[in-house]
Amino acid sequence: MVKNASTDGLTYSAFTGWTDRPTDLAPALEGGVRCDVAVVGGGLVGMAAALRLAERGVDVALLEGGYCGWGASSRNAGYLSNALAGDPQLLRLLYRRRLRDLVRYGGNAAEFTEGLIGRLAIDCEYDPTGNVIAAVSTGQLRRSRKNMRILRDAGADVEFVDGRDFGLPETFLGGIFERGGGLLNPGKLALGLRAALLASNAKVFERTTVEAVESDGAGVVLGVPGGRVHAERVVLATNAHSRDLDIAPSGITPVWTSLVETEPVDPDRLAAIGWTSRTGIITPHTILENYRRTARGTIMFGTRRLQAAPSALGAHEPDRAVVADLVQGFHERFPSLGYVAPRRAWGGWVAMTSFLPVAGEAAKNVFYAVSCNGHGLAQSPYVGTLLADRLAGDGIHDDLRAIWRPRPPYMPSFALGATALKAGWVLDRISDRLSRRS
Ligand SMILES: Cc1cc2nc3c(=O)[nH]c(=O)nc-3n(C[C@H](O)[C@H](O)[C@H](O)COP(=O)(O)OP(=O)(O)OC[C@H]3O[C@@H](n4cnc5c(N)ncnc54)[C@H](O)[C@@H]3O)c2cc1C
Repeated sequence: MVKNASTDGLTYSAFTGWTDRPTDLAPALEGGVRCDVAVVGGGLVGMAAALRLAERGVDVALLEGGYCGWGASSRNAGYLSNALAGDPQLLRLLYRRRLRDLVRYGGNAAEFTEGLIGRLAIDCEYDPTGNVIAAVSTGQLRRSRKNMRILRDAGADVEFVDGRDFGLPETFLGGIFERGGGLLNPGKLALGLRAALLASNAKVFERTTVEAVESDGAGVVLGVPGGRVHAERVVLATNAHSRDLDIAPSGITPVWTSLVETEPVDPDRLAAIGWTSRTGIITPHTILENYRRTARGTIMFGTRRLQAAPSALGAHEPDRAVVADLVQGFHERFPSLGYVAPRRAWGGWVAMTSFLPVAGEAAKNVFYAVSCNGHGLAQSPYVGTLLADRLAGDGIHDDLRAIWRPRPPYMPSFALGATALKAGWVLDRISDRLSRRS
């Protein structure tokens, strides 16, 4: 086991490490504005919703507290996945009757977002490699076989692969290959979508935090520091920050997740440890680990430890101890890459909602969508677009119906408290230790 993994020379960022911040910020809202639909939040959900509404001729305004893409949308690990969050056995237990619809929704989400990248010609280094849930112990491998049967029965496009045949690094035994989706640079995706939105007829206000949303039955009034917005309908696309708005549904809990990126690594050194596949790797731990190669020749890894949120969210650097633990995990999974230096760390707020993506009408004329649980990169643009189509007058799409609820399913608050999250990490480390002994 590697002890005291070094994080010397590593820089910590409170923003994304994928791209620079935009310099052409849209103006903040001053005074009053009227529109048919106001979208609060400029992540992938909000930008996709506003863009679609503008394309359909709806008078739409988007209000974003930072800049469009500031949140999880530009910070994530870049796995465009067709999968739902949560262990398939647990999902079947909790949502047996809906699982087929949810799996179909996940597959369609990945295809939609791939199509959106193509339609808008966004250069975000998209590589349609699929993703693999790869076991690091024989126990995980056994469980993965069961999970694959559950996913297949629910209609998922998955197959079981052997680690060596598939070109995984030697400590990954094999697992479930999800054929849909792939890997990309989420900073470039978010900025590409932002550029398309700014070029559309949508009114975009950045540096404009919505402090209050009041629905009076006939319409909705939004309060921002410099003015007010009168809209017929509102879309809350505020993700992990939803709890800051009283009108947002309860049951959306923020947790912090961190990422680390190494220096560039010679591909021949990766081939020497059997890592020839470019597919993104996720482990089936209670709290997943992810390892991927990037288009800039680096390795990126993350999660392993989730942290409960303080009372105020906002810009935040990863915790030093969490980053040291991630680096230690990297050395354990890649023992022959001990010489590879970690260079940068960042992270972001993820919204947790009992594993399920959800959208619905939280109050009269106030709609919301949260497709996160750490799996929203493919789902967010899709859900934003489906919601926009509904507001533009279409009937409800079957995939939107699959996730439609006035509020997320109930989850006890302790389930995502600091103690429970620490317990998940401890369980994973115990299972790692036991598997090393066997
Ligand atoms: C570190 C990390 C790694 C991840 N890795 C993956 C991955 O590999 N694959 C995957 O599928 N998913 C991943 N995710 C999840 C994925 O990034 C999210 O599901 C997705 O980006 C959510 O999009 P969103 O639009 O809902 O939220 P966000 O991108 O968070 O956007 C919400 C926006 O709303 C704004 N806002 C909030 N409140 C207000 C307000 N009151 N007024 C105005 N603006 C407001 C915020 O500033 C923010 O820009 C990851 C997330 C993180 C943080």
